[in-house]
Amino acid sequence: RAAPPAREVASVCPYCGVGCQLGYRVRDGRIEEVVGRDGPSNHGRLCVKGRFGFDFLTHPDRLARPLIRIDGAAKDPADCTDPSRARGKFREASWGEALARAGDGLRVIRDGIGPQALAGFGSAKGSNEEAYLFQKLVRTGFGTNNVDHCTRLCHAASVTALLEGIGSGAVTAPFTAVEDADLIFVIGARPTENHPVAATFIKQAVARGATLVVADPRGSELDRIATEILRFRPGEDVALLNAMLHVILSENLHDPAFVAARVDGLDGLRAHVAAYAPEAVEVQCGVPAEPIRRVARLYARSPAALTLWGMGISQSVHGTDNARALIALSLVCGQVGRRGTGLHPLRGQNNVQGASDAGLIPMMLPDYHRIDDAAARATIEALWGATIDPKPGLTVVEIIAAAGRGDIRGMYVMGENPAMSDPDLAHARAALARLDHLVVQDLFLTETAALADVVLPASAWPEKDGTVTNSNRQVQMGRAAVAPPGEVRQDLAIIVAMARRLGLDWTYAHPREVFAEMAQAMPSLANITWDRLLRENSVTYPCAAPDAPGEDIVFHDHFPTRDGRALLVPAGPSDPAEMPDAAYPFVLTTGRELEHWHTGTMTRRAGVLDAIEPSATVSLAPGDLRRLGILPGGWIRVTTRRGTVQCASREDPGLPEGVVFLPFAFREAAANLLTDPRLDPEGRIPGFKLCAARVEPG
Ligand code: SF4
Repeated sequence: RAAPPAREVASVCPYCGVGCQLGYRVRDGRIEEVVGRDGPSNHGRLCVKGRFGFDFLTHPDRLARPLIRIDGAAKDPADCTDPSRARGKFREASWGEALARAGDGLRVIRDGIGPQALAGFGSAKGSNEEAYLFQKLVRTGFGTNNVDHCTRLCHAASVTALLEGIGSGAVTAPFTAVEDADLIFVIGARPTENHPVAATFIKQAVARGATLVVADPRGSELDRIATEILRFRPGEDVALLNAMLHVILSENLHDPAFVAARVDGLDGLRAHVAAYAPEAVEVQCGVPAEPIRRVARLYARSPAALTLWGMGISQSVHGTDNARALIALSLVCGQVGRRGTGLHPLRGQNNVQGASDAGLIPMMLPDYHRIDDAAARATIEALWGATIDPKPGLTVVEIIAAAGRGDIRGMYVMGENPAMSDPDLAHARAALARLDHLVVQDLFLTETAALADVVLPASAWPEKDGTVTNSNRQVQMGRAAVAPPGEVRQDLAIIVAMARRLGLDWTYAHPREVFAEMAQAMPSLANITWDRLLRENSVTYPCAAPDAPGEDIVFHDHFPTRDGRALLVPAGPSDPAEMPDAAYPFVLTTGRELEHWHTGTMTRRAGVLDAIEPSATVSLAPGDLRRLGILPGGWIRVTTRRGTVQCASREDPGLPEGVVFLPFAFREAAANLLTDPRLDPEGRIPGFKLCAARVEPG
């Protein structure tokens, strides 16, 4: 007799911010395959991660019961290099014992030392409801605003500049607006690897006739279809963009009517970029003056130009300035608020937009109301029936630094892996090991969990219901397709249980209840309800009516600032990153690869993805490999002032000589052992994209 057909469960991809809708085909309680569904951001398409990145669910490493550190078992940062070494330092425990140990440890620190000795890292891999509840727990249960998540490591600089310039940290248009664009400007992004389905829309737009301009120090697959390519020197983004602004303003190519009606600060910007004639900065930028002038004119004269940017812009010690210059470019030319125009920072995690919107950041309440705004705080305090500390909390890297100093003594980490993702890992791991009490909630014994006192086994995305918000501001419904293994509980239930151990009388039983409360706290969710999302799967915010689809293009007549006008903020010069010198003559840049997601926790345990890209490689320009006397595949040693890693080499003709690329998903060659912890002064984001390195055979 034929086997019954597989049941298809509609959900959303758990990896990148594109937010592809997919279907889990389930038979006998297991996912057999994943298929693309016709969502607004993917039109049925999926990339290799969405298609094959799900069998980590049943990997033998999956945690099925809580773990508690055995009394006297030392926390050794060396365990982070291979967390399986730490397995013998834990014993399994019941949920009752684990939650008591986890919650009571935090409570003792709160009551004995004070709330500011605690911190929490939530996750952009969780749902909106989990993000909202987690930040509420830290603010009301811990009593501090020391709560953050990985947005601090990806687009914090972009959000800082967008809020300052146009009053909103979200995109002004979806990436699918490339369909209407005459010119697409991609800078500091590699969408074919990091947002692969978004890249398919770009390719289609170019095939239709759109002009593509790609600006990046490193060549990429998109170069093959680009009309103009600006290969600027690493770290010279501001000089390049200011030079484009110089051309536009000195040749009067800007849109004076748009600026007069909607933008302040033109005189200050004009004076600032006067010194940035392309001929004056071409050596600094590494791009001749003529292509800079050509691209500036193309952009300004384009009937509709859309700007897409990525980590290359934001993961910089002057990331906020980089984004300011991009925003200025768009504003002076009136390239925002119309079809085919806009500003779009391509979001990393599947829910980094939603988690940030929900208030999982230390200086903002839900919907980006500043924590030091007494009226905004009073509104949320009335809703929650609790008081909120008026002092902004510490950010991700600042929390780890405070742990290293002994100022932060206890942490609750849900779904993040700072022992892999923070810069200068040797210090970050030592800081985590120093904590009096560390609770980690995750799928596996991660590099961070190896240093925990209590490990709470988490549910994976295909095992739970919840909403997520993608890069396009589309709020989408995810549905549980399979049951979690063993005794694993829903993350939402774990957060609620932790809250109760900390003295809160929470009774949330289902994410729909949390969504309803979120909608009260977040006017941005007006006209979007749980039931509507169950019916429609996706609704874009802002949404004007219960039956309206939501606004994909925003700010067509005013910006959400106090007076409705945008602000031009001159960019740089600011403190430079750690640039190459005689002792460390290379630039090290880090990032992702197509097959692996962030710290590799899930994708390195997904069979197909691991088979395609099983190990770490460091990429170099062909000329550098030759000079080092190494054939592609030979071993390389990369050293910075913070550490050394060794792995096989790979030839990348797209890399300029003097620049090496290392992905950060591989713990055996952990890129962040090398990276520089210095922060952008405003976005508080580290400069993962640039530090000085020495490269040797080995
Ligand atoms: Fe998932 Fe992003 Fe790939 Fe879409 S493009 S399938 S959201 S990883």
